[in-house]
Amino acid sequence: MVKKIIKLAQYTLNRNMSSTCLFCCIIENKLPVAKIYQDSDFLVLMDKYPINTGHTLVLPIYHYESLLCMSYSEVAKLYSLVSVIAKAVVSAVNADGFNVGQNNGKAANQIIPHVHVHIIPRFRDDSPDGKWPGRRVAKLEDLKNTANKIRSLLPPVLDIQDRKYLKA
Ligand SMILES: [Zn+2]
Repeated sequence: MVKKIIKLAQYTLNRNMSSTCLFCCIIENKLPVAKIYQDSDFLVLMDKYPINTGHTLVLPIYHYESLLCMSYSEVAKLYSLVSVIAKAVVSAVNADGFNVGQNNGKAANQIIPHVHVHIIPRFRDDSPDGKWPGRRVAKLEDLKNTANKIRSLLPPVLDIQDRKYLKA
């Protein structure tokens, strides 16, 4: 009973954040984005300002401001999903490597205060000066094409920690 009340309170809190949080708006389908995958716990979509083609975001549906707000088992599920998605991303864009990044707090350059993990494909020649490649604005159509390719490379059942998710 208590657990149910806590869950209901968390749900209500999450809904309350929806009007101010960009990712909560995206989760509620209020903004056009290129989604790769969504279930009751996670959303995976293309970054609108990619560093490289295939730049993907993995985020929890619930509005957690930082990784420290999440339980260990939720973090484990999140990062298990990151590895599953990264495999498909690397294959889809034929990357030579990839970075995984996740910022917590303004001091760490977190722009949207809703936990999200970046999967950034890297290529041998993408940083001749040793610096990060610059971000750019991508066309929604191009993002959707890449999202379709990544989705087609996901396994039919996503085996994430102790749960199995059917591909949408
Ligand atoms: Zn949010």
